[in-house]
This record gives sequence, C-alpha cells and structure tokens, in this order.
Amino acid sequence: MHHHSNTRPAFSFEFFPPKNPEGAERLRRARARLTALDPAYFSVTFGAGGSTRDRTLETVLEIQNEAAVAAAPHISCISSSRAQLLDLLTTYRDHGVRRLVALRGDLPSGTGVGGGLGEFRYAAELVAFIREQFGDHFTIEVAAYPEFHPEAVNAEKDLEHFRQKVAAGADAAITQYFYNPDAYLAFVERVRAMGVDIPIVPGIMPITNYSQLARFSDACGAEIPRYIRKRLEAYGDDTASIRAFGVEVVTRLCQRLLDDGAPGLHFYSMNQAAPSEAIWNNLGLAQPR
Ligand code: FAD
Repeated sequence: MHHHSNTRPAFSFEFFPPKNPEGAERLRRARARLTALDPAYFSVTFGAGGSTRDRTLETVLEIQNEAAVAAAPHISCISSSRAQLLDLLTTYRDHGVRRLVALRGDLPSGTGVGGGLGEFRYAAELVAFIREQFGDHFTIEVAAYPEFHPEAVNAEKDLEHFRQKVAAGADAAITQYFYNPDAYLAFVERVRAMGVDIPIVPGIMPITNYSQLARFSDACGAEIPRYIRKRLEAYGDDTASIRAFGVEVVTRLCQRLLDDGAPGLHFYSMNQAAPSEAIWNNLGLAQPR
C-alpha cells in the first residue's frame, strides 16, 4: 500500500464511562495526562443498558467540550432499535462528533440472545445504516479479530464477515487485543489479499493485573502466551513487578508492530494514564512533532 510521506501513525486511547463521581475525577486526571500526548482521538465504550448508554453520551460530551482531542463514541446495535440508534447518532452529529466505533456489541449477561430490542444482528448492518442515514459525516471504525471472534463458525467465515463489514462502509478497523504480533501480521496479510485496504490499527492492552487480564482474555478469545502467563503468575501480588514486566512485553509488541507497518496504535487505557504513558515513552513517541 502507498503511504504519503507525511502520513504519521495515528494513536488513540480508549476510555470507559465512569460509574461514580470518583471514577469521573480519575478519568479527568488520566485524560489530562493523555491529552498531552496529542492523540488523534479518545474513544468511549458503550454498554448495552440504558444507564450506561447515557454515561457514554455524557463522557463523550465532556471530552468534546473540555479536551483538545476529538471524542469517538462506541455504538453497538444488538440491543437497540433503529429509532434509538438514529436518535443517538443524531445527538452525536448535532454535538459535532465526527468519528464512531461501530459494533455489534455483547448483550449484558442474563439478558439472553433475543432479549434485546435489536433490529440489527451484525455490525455490518449498523455500518450500512449509518452510511445510509448520515452519508460521509462520520469516520467509522469497526472491530477486527486477529485471533478470530470467539463466536465465529470458522476462521475463513470470520474473515469474510470482516470483509463484508468493511464493504458496508468502514473507514478503518481497531483490533481486539493480542500479544502475538504474528497473529496481527497474518490477519492483515489475509484481508489485504481479499481486497481490504483500510488501515487496521492494533488494539493494545497494557498489562497491570494478572487475574483481570486472564478473565478478560478468556471471554474475548485473546491468547496470553504461556511465557507471559507463567511470568505474571510467578509475581503473585507483586504489582510493581507485574507492571514493569507488562510494560516491557507490551513495548516490545508495539515496537515490532510499528516496525512491520502498523498504521498506529489504539490503547485500551482502562482509564489509567501511567501504563500507556510508560509504553509511549519507551517507544520514543514523546518527541516534539
Ligand atoms: P460483528 O462484526 O457483527 O461480528 C460478530 C460475529 O458475527 C463474528 O463471529 C462474525 O464472524 C459473525 N458474523 C458477522 N456477519 C455475519 C453474517 N452475515 N452471518 C453470520 N455470521 C456473521 N462491545 C460493547 O458492548 N461495547 C463497546 O464499546 C465495545 N467496544 C469494542 C471495541 C473494540 C475495538 C473491539 C475489538 C470490541 C469491542 N466490543 C464492544 C466488543 C464487541 O461488541 C464484541 O466483540 C461483539 O461480540 C462483536 O462485535 P463486532 O462489531 O465485531 O461484531
């Protein structure tokens, strides 16, 4: 693929909407520190329930109003009606939001499949709907799975569904996190061969807490390589060592990805500035631009 010589990698950070005033204050502090790194945007995750939906909007509006960085709300279709989605998208447009992360979403546990209001089954349908209703107003990011989506019937079908989602109008993709760079490089190679030419930005999960990471990874189908798992297990409650090793491993991953042509990095910040900042500094991204 041809890159213009001025194109520099695009970096972004993901937040979740805070659950209480203390969380909101913590997020403001993290956001201020990460703003100093001059990212392309801050994204804000979306929960399927009504109250978490409102918190995404609130968090996005606070970023739009206060930060010198664009906000990109995540929006999922599986448990919302067309009318609800249209309403939310219109609100975002009217507040000057220009970028979205469009997802199918996961139902809150306990709801059961079919328990939602969803009229759309797959993210591709949401992407098509956004394009139909809003033309090119929004830059649309979609999700990609280098280690495959856990519900995928098989690898080939998963890649084909990703291709269809891009064909529906996605501008770029952010991957699920992974710790094996070859999974990402192989994914990019395969989808390029299928004609997909949009940027595919690796999603980066800093390592700060072993049991939490193990739980997440089981749920979303991300593999923690054995050598990482064994090292983290051995540190037990030694948080400082876990963090130091995590920064070392994830820095090496990011360096390899950027060296091999990744068009940027999307950090799952977990509303914490320090782990992403440490990796950022190790990568030498802190130089004035
Ligand atoms: P899709 O692209 O629709 O794919 C879902 C599954 O359906 C895949 O297995 C795919 O192969 C299959 N499929 C697709 N099309 C078809 C078809 N036509 N026929 C049969 N099968 C098909 N979740 C949230 O709830 N809120 C968030 O804010 C959020 N943010 C995320 C951000 C990123 C960067 C990522 C990677 C994930 C995020 N998720 C979020 C999780 C995501 O919602 C789940 O992984 C969800 O299970 C799949 O969403 P998707 O958009 O990838 O779905």
